[in-house]
Amino acid sequence: MSRATVCLTVDFDGVSSWIHSFGEADSPTNLSRGLFGVDTGAPRLLDLFDEHDIETTWFVPGHTIESFPDAVESVWTAGHDIQHHGWSHTRPGTYPDEASERADIKRGIEAIESLTGRRPTGYRSPSWDFSENTLSLLEAFDFEWDSSQMGTEFHPYPLRKGWQAPPDAPFERGEASAIVEVPVSWQRDDFPAFAFNRQRGFADEPAVFDMWQSQFEWMYRNVDNGVYVLTMHPQIMGYSHRVELLDSLIETIAEYPEVEFTTVDAVSEGV
Ligand SMILES: [Zn+2]
Repeated sequence: MSRATVCLTVDFDGVSSWIHSFGEADSPTNLSRGLFGVDTGAPRLLDLFDEHDIETTWFVPGHTIESFPDAVESVWTAGHDIQHHGWSHTRPGTYPDEASERADIKRGIEAIESLTGRRPTGYRSPSWDFSENTLSLLEAFDFEWDSSQMGTEFHPYPLRKGWQAPPDAPFERGEASAIVEVPVSWQRDDFPAFAFNRQRGFADEPAVFDMWQSQFEWMYRNVDNGVYVLTMHPQIMGYSHRVELLDSLIETIAEYPEVEFTTVDAVSEGV
């Protein structure tokens, strides 16, 4: 058994996040940032993963699958796992009702089935949050795991349902659901770290990669059977200088004894 597990995960939003999450369907420049991810970023990441012989998990909206079938086919034929990330990349909390969220999840499942020939087992919420209906919908569609929440740092755990957060009474955690959470962190996501923001300016990028390395090293030293999930987006991580920094991060982590790079689905099966 490995001492530490690393899941490299890629949210392949294409242009869906610009259209459905950020309301930028009329901005050719922002759409072109998504197109950069499809045409340039994704192939660079695939090449890098191939060089390191690593199997990764790609969360792909149905919108990306239907808009850019060849690009997503390349991910699948390269041997990576493809899991659910909504059809439209709509933030779950913004659906007007349960039926429209249900329809979007169903359409996303169908898009993945038509590409891979099998049903997705895992879900990652667009925007990393749930509506009040998301968890019961995941159970109803027989998903096995989710990777959007942050209740632990390095260990999978069951998501709870029926929790309550009333304004005038204590918080209730609720009961364990059938869905295993393989937790993410905003601290290990390239989008908040690097996506251009006019107010903030540029991040110290090597410092962010150093932070990701220190997080892995802390886990390796202190946590039994820890699972380290790193999230990236082809339109962010696919830039030349970042691909190089990612290359060295992978190389450094891979030098540690008994480290396994694997898919989130494989991790969830061991829970
Ligand atoms: Zn996304």
